Amino acid sequence: MSAVTLETNDRLLTVRPGGGMGPDLAEHLATHGTLSIPARDDTDWRTGIQRAVSASGLLGRGGAGFPSALKWDAVRRGRRRPMVVVNAMEGEPASAKDRVLLSYAPHLVLDGAEVVAAVVGASEIVICVAEDNRTAAAAVERAVTERMRAGIARRRMSVRRPPSRYVAGEESALVSWLDDKRGLPMLRVDKSVPLQVSRRPVVVHNVETLSQVALIARHGPDWFRRVGTPEAPGSTLVTVSGAVRSPGVFEVELGTPVVDIVRRAGLETELAGVLLGGYGGAWLHPSRLATPYAPGPLSAVGATLGVGIVIALPVGSCGITETARIARYMAGESAGQCGPCVYGLPAIATDLEQLAAGRADSAVLERIRARATAIEGRGACRHPDGVVRLVRSALAVFADDVAAHAQGRPCPGHSAGSVLRFPDGHLASRRAS
Ligand code: SF4
Repeated sequence: MSAVTLETNDRLLTVRPGGGMGPDLAEHLATHGTLSIPARDDTDWRTGIQRAVSASGLLGRGGAGFPSALKWDAVRRGRRRPMVVVNAMEGEPASAKDRVLLSYAPHLVLDGAEVVAAVVGASEIVICVAEDNRTAAAAVERAVTERMRAGIARRRMSVRRPPSRYVAGEESALVSWLDDKRGLPMLRVDKSVPLQVSRRPVVVHNVETLSQVALIARHGPDWFRRVGTPEAPGSTLVTVSGAVRSPGVFEVELGTPVVDIVRRAGLETELAGVLLGGYGGAWLHPSRLATPYAPGPLSAVGATLGVGIVIALPVGSCGITETARIARYMAGESAGQCGPCVYGLPAIATDLEQLAAGRADSAVLERIRARATAIEGRGACRHPDGVVRLVRSALAVFADDVAAHAQGRPCPGHSAGSVLRFPDGHLASRRAS
């Protein structure tokens, strides 16, 4: 899925007439204007950018929702020249926003990386694109070459291709791969201490975050705040799929009701629920579809923005079966270094599969809840915590179905096909096993 839906007020994406690949450098500059970045450290410029990004209220768009400018000071204080890492790994199978952005607006992403590099004094920018994402990698490689030829690349830029896995885009796993190729998430007690590659401090940003930085650097914080809400300003990219006529990537104002996002993609039917945030996100009950799509309101109903995923589950599908599929997939994506994650996630997946099929024993719900409690907060990264949140939300949102399944009366939807997306072969291999 890589369809892009644009409206005249879209800020991030520009598409060539005829729907071809994103703009070349000349078209990019014609659309967005030039961006002045000093060749040497310039305190006034640097302070101005930091103030602008802070005042904009930009929150990272990679899942954690961390205030973007807060990452920069700690990196800058180090003794070695920092490195900027562009995180384009997009390990969530249902997400397409980052690959769309890199394919359609690669220069906006690189502008943002240049701004951050100039602010923190970095000597190098590394763009990490998953090895199976050839289209986005080709687009960004072409853009890097264009900038080199045009003489506007102010520091070394390279594209790296880590293996494609769900946790590979977790910030510390990505840095670990760049450092020693192990690619394992690290337990970070103090997140204000920068990650390092070859003992150089590293700042990692998601591609959408960098595009927003590039726009704020051009237009300022007031322009950024013209859309969105006071607490969650700006627009964001959302990948919508499931029971909609036009699945794809949409740019929406933060604060837009969830139901309006689904309608924009062509809502086809009555919904049993909506999955928000991704496979480590949460289900939203149909009665809550008016909830504004922003961190605060979503958190109040137990959901999360995550990596900008909205999946419409139609009435007639089985939310428990879909959750079991996700749990099994996520169990297989564990990086394999923390016991509660390695053993706990497969056990939860098995219980959910039994529940989905109406073959579970009477203690299954108690067991799932106890395992969720035992797993939560016990991994080096947040991977298992996301699964726990998703499973708990499924037990609450599909409570009536859960009760019927637990009594051996599974709903007809349990044998229906999935509306979810998984890497090629995942569901087929589960059916065969
Ligand atoms: S919690 Fe799971 S995915 Fe995260 S580091 Fe530990 S084993 Fe790996």
